Order: sequence, then structure tokens, then C-alpha cells
Amino acid sequence: MNVILFGAPGAGKGTQAERLVAGRGLVQLSTGDMLRAAIAAGTELGLRAKDIMDRGDLVSDDIIVGMIAARIDDDDCARGVILDGFPRTVAQANALDEMLKSKGLALDFVIEIKVDEAALFARIENRAAETGGARSDDNADTLRKRLAVYHENTAPLLPYYAEKGVLQTVDGMNSIDDVASQIDRILG
Ligand code: AMP
Repeated sequence: MNVILFGAPGAGKGTQAERLVAGRGLVQLSTGDMLRAAIAAGTELGLRAKDIMDRGDLVSDDIIVGMIAARIDDDDCARGVILDGFPRTVAQANALDEMLKSKGLALDFVIEIKVDEAALFARIENRAAETGGARSDDNADTLRKRLAVYHENTAPLLPYYAEKGVLQTVDGMNSIDDVASQIDRILG
């Protein structure tokens, strides 16, 4: 089963993806985590990505699609993947379609975790406090920029996936457990 978890920054995609990994043996592919690992490892990609991420902008489609293409071929992805933070642009969504098609795979569900944006500022503040500021993009200024980028580049994917008949929406303002139950009901 291949699933996209979709939503604004702070909507809870990563949290829900982790539960699906534990509960269903799916593999989580988080482009944000991959980029943060590259930064931590001090690779050239990491060095290039860091400033872009700190600004709240998007890393180029070529780099992101290349990262996913390299990973999705690994054996552990054969049972299915949860895409967390990818795709974020129409070009990335098209590239994903091609990638899955060439492997004879389907996209089964796109689950939008819908949240009230005013609440996201408090959530991101909490995450910054809980992680000791581990993510340098977890602050109000960068979040404002990330939300603007989400509306401009990523939200247009909602009608794209609605047209394909794979889009489902859950209420992300409820508790983590409740959101997880809503997702479980969709995945069956
Ligand atoms: P995330 O952890 O998903 O919130 O991503 C953190 C940052 O990494 C984003 O604000 C972008 O700068 C970059 N990033 C992650 N995923 C993507 C993607 N699919 N396309 C472009 N940039 C991305």
C-alpha cells in the first residue's frame, strides 16, 4: 500500500507516519528527514539545502525527486511506503506518478490532515521547546514563509489528487490518537 500524508507544516504528518510504520510495517519516506540527515552528515547536498530550509523555501524538484527515486527502489519499500512531505509541487507529483507507473505500483491513498492554521504556530512553538530547538526552521517567521509556500506550491495538489479519486481528508485538530483512528478507518 502506498500512501501520501498531506498537510501544512506542523499538521502532524510525521507523527502519524511513525504510527503507520509501527502498526503496518510500511516504510516512511520523509524528504525533510532525508535533507536533515544530509545536513547532519555535512554532505554537499546538505550544505546547499540548509539555507533554503532555514528560509522556509523549497529545495529544487530535481534534488527531491532524485532522493525519492534512489530510495523507493530499495527492497524494504516493496511492501509499501508512506510519503511524508513529498510531493510538494505539481512537478514532484508528476514525477511520482511516473516512478510508480514504471514500477507497476499504484498510489492508494492521499490523506490530507487538515488543521486550523492559527493553531500551527503554537504547535511549532511546542515542537521547538520539546526538541530543544533541533529544527532551525521551527520558528514563527519561517513558519509564516512555509505556510505561504504551502499555499502557493503544495495546496494545488489537493484538486490534482481529488480528480484522481484518491484524496481523503481527516480532521487534524483532534488528538493524535483520534487522528490515527480516522486514518486507520480510511486505510481499512
Ligand atoms: P519538512 O520536514 O517536511 O517540514 O521539510 C522541511 C524543509 O525541507 C521544507 O521547508 C523544505 O525546505 C525542505 N523540503 C522537504 N521536503 C521537500 C519537498 N518535497 N520539496 C521541496 N523541499 C522540501
